[in-house]
Amino acid sequence: MVGSRTATAVGGVAGSLFLTGALYYYTGQLLVFLAAPFVPLLFHRRAGDAGDGAEVRTCPVCGYASAADHAYCPHDGTKLE
Ligand SMILES: [Zn+2]
Repeated sequence: MVGSRTATAVGGVAGSLFLTGALYYYTGQLLVFLAAPFVPLLFHRRAGDAGDGAEVRTCPVCGYASAADHAYCPHDGTKLE
């Protein structure tokens, strides 16, 4: 499970770097670097929704889902189930 999680993280970082490089190449705008740090979060959440074997916890209040080690919702502090 740790290996899967690490692979997801590494893939997300590599994907974001690749995406950032591609966007920068095609647009030539430094603005894309501002959005780059959020890309791994999108990959991470998508992997959790797909149910790749990792335990997925959801917030009963706002519906936030995470496959990470979060025990509490980052939005409202509710304990994840
Ligand atoms: Zn919540």
